[in-house]
Amino acid sequence: MGSNILPRLQALRAALKEKGLGGLLVSTPENRRYLSGFTGSAGYLLVTQADALLATDFRYVEQAGNQSPEFRVVHMGAGNGWFLQLLSETGARRVGFESENISVALHKRLAQALKESDGTGTGKPRLVATSNIVDELRAYKDWEEMRLLQRAIDISDGAMNSVAPTIRPGQTETEVAWRLEVAMRELGAEGPSFDTIVAAGPNGALPHHRAGDTVIQKGEPIVIDMGAKYQGYCSDLTRTIIIGTPDETFRRVYDTVLGAQLTAIATVQAGMTGAQADGLARKVIEVAGHGEQFGHSLGHGVGLAVHEFPRVGPNSPGLLQEGMAFTIEPGIYISGWGGVRIEDVVVLEKSGARVLSKAIKQDKVGG
Ligand code: ZN
Ligand code: ZN
Repeated sequence: MGSNILPRLQALRAALKEKGLGGLLVSTPENRRYLSGFTGSAGYLLVTQADALLATDFRYVEQAGNQSPEFRVVHMGAGNGWFLQLLSETGARRVGFESENISVALHKRLAQALKESDGTGTGKPRLVATSNIVDELRAYKDWEEMRLLQRAIDISDGAMNSVAPTIRPGQTETEVAWRLEVAMRELGAEGPSFDTIVAAGPNGALPHHRAGDTVIQKGEPIVIDMGAKYQGYCSDLTRTIIIGTPDETFRRVYDTVLGAQLTAIATVQAGMTGAQADGLARKVIEVAGHGEQFGHSLGHGVGLAVHEFPRVGPNSPGLLQEGMAFTIEPGIYISGWGGVRIEDVVVLEKSGARVLSKAIKQDKVGG
């Protein structure tokens, strides 16, 4: 892991310099892991131009020392002494904190600690709210991340390929979800990256449906959305299948969604905004008359979190760039009937999107 940490710290330091920050207090668990390699559930990083400190409690001190050789480990006792210690050891002044993550209560405690600390006037450290500095770095995947992400993807692909052909009418959604999760575990997953979704028939039109007692029927679409976690990295995969003979609606809707997905995969380019990429698929669905029934974003970044940067939706102004990994998952949802969604993970390269998912996908079903 070590060889990947230094370039990440370097990128963060460049970002801090650009923003005029003396350091960043990192509290978001995924950002902590990304920058340090530390997998424990508690702790803070303080990264400055010259220093990298990791404060954690007694349960994790030894683990942190082993996992994060680039960091100096500080034992967090009770109270806020650890925070003052990080500041005094680094001499950091304008210190950013992750405003999307830190609680109001913790912010208050840290500000109070600063107030009570020694030093006055301009020499006194200040807390500065920041947004998504590390999250934006995480949108780009380095080779080590690509290796782990691909493993997570291979696991959910394998589980889908082995379980989907065994789904029969009469089985319940939860039964199928369980078998998918068992298959992912058997293939080496730490666990699912989110609650597995199996939505049969009309349930497929409900965006918040997970898996329940609904019995799978012949001729109904089944939306399966699942992901595996491997060494912290998350995959995300959706297939829509049907047992028996599809009806006219399914043929039409499935072919539209597939066409939209393949169009987006074939034409997305580095330098487009997330909104432009979203529009590639949305246009196909709108032309088919289903625009109102595609009520979510085309995709989202995946990595240490199952939803992360880049954003790929109708209101996403950020640019998509080479090295970013994200999902492409158009869908059409028809109340009372069900839904169709098809989702793969891609990585943007010079020549366009390379698809990382290899789960079997039904080709066009229409005539
Ligand atoms: Zn998904
Ligand atoms: Zn997704």
